[in-house]
Amino acid sequence: MSTKDTKVLAIDCLDFGLVNDWGLTGFQLDHTTELTPYMWHTEYPHTAHIWPYVAMKVEPVKSGKTVSWENPLIDHLSTGLSFLPKRLREYMGSKLEDSGFRTEHLQIQNYDHPHIFDSVFQWPGIRNEHLKRAWDLSQEVAYNKRDLEEAKNIVHNDAMESIDWLISTEGLTATHIHYIDFCSHIEARNEVALKQDYKLIEGLVNTVRENVESLMIISDHGIKAGWIDTPPVGHHSMRGYFSVTSDWPTPIPQNVKQVHDYIRLNKNPENNLNELLNDLGYLS
Ligand SMILES: [Zn+2]
Repeated sequence: MSTKDTKVLAIDCLDFGLVNDWGLTGFQLDHTTELTPYMWHTEYPHTAHIWPYVAMKVEPVKSGKTVSWENPLIDHLSTGLSFLPKRLREYMGSKLEDSGFRTEHLQIQNYDHPHIFDSVFQWPGIRNEHLKRAWDLSQEVAYNKRDLEEAKNIVHNDAMESIDWLISTEGLTATHIHYIDFCSHIEARNEVALKQDYKLIEGLVNTVRENVESLMIISDHGIKAGWIDTPPVGHHSMRGYFSVTSDWPTPIPQNVKQVHDYIRLNKNPENNLNELLNDLGYLS
C-alpha cells in the first residue's frame, strides 16, 4: 500500500460496543474490529499511556515523579471525598485516573521520542493543549463552575479544529480528538445524551470520509455505561475500536499494542523489506 495522504484519526474513548449497539455506521470503514486496550500496571486503560505507545512505542516507566498535571482534585482527595454523592465521587475518580493520579509511579519515558507520522496535531506526547483544556473543563463542570453545554461546545470546537487540520494535510498524518471521552465520563448513565454525542462525532468522521480516501480510526478504550455494564460506571471499558479503509492490509490489529508496528510496517513497505533482508544478512 502507499501511505501517501493517509489519515489516522484517534477518537479517545470510542466504545466498540456502543457504536454497534447504536448502529453508527459512519465509524465503520472497510475493516473494523474491537481493539483490546493494554494496561501498564493500571486497573483501567490509561489515555496518557496508550497514545504515546501507538505513536512512539514508548512505555511508561516506574518513577517517583508524578505524571499528572497540577490537579486541584488531589487536594480534595487528601481531605476526603466521603461527603460527596457516590455518582460525583465515581466521576471524579475516573477523571483522576485520566490525569494520571492513580498511576503516579508511572511516567512516559520520553515524550520527545520520534513518532511514526509525517506530521501530527494534538497527539504524540499527549500533554497537548486540547487534552489539557478538556480535562480542565471536566473539573470545572464537576464543581459547577462551568455549564456542561458550554464546556461541550468548547471541546467540540477543538475536535473540529483537529478534523480540519487532518483533512488539509499531506502524507501520513494523525490527530486526536477528546470529545467522546469528555462526554462519556459525565454521561455514562445517560444513554440518550451520549448517543447524541456519538452522532455528532460520527458527523465529523463522515466529513473526513468525504475528503480523504485512506483512513484509520483508533480508540484506546471505551466507557463502562450504566445501561450495559456493571459498576463502577464511568470508568474506561475494555472495548476499544479500530477501523481502516481497504487500502490497509489484513489482518488488522486486535490489540492496541499491535497498532504501532502495523502502521510502521505498512508506512513504507519497500524500506521494510530492505530492513528485513538486512536483518537476515542478505544486505550489508
Ligand atoms: Zn477517560
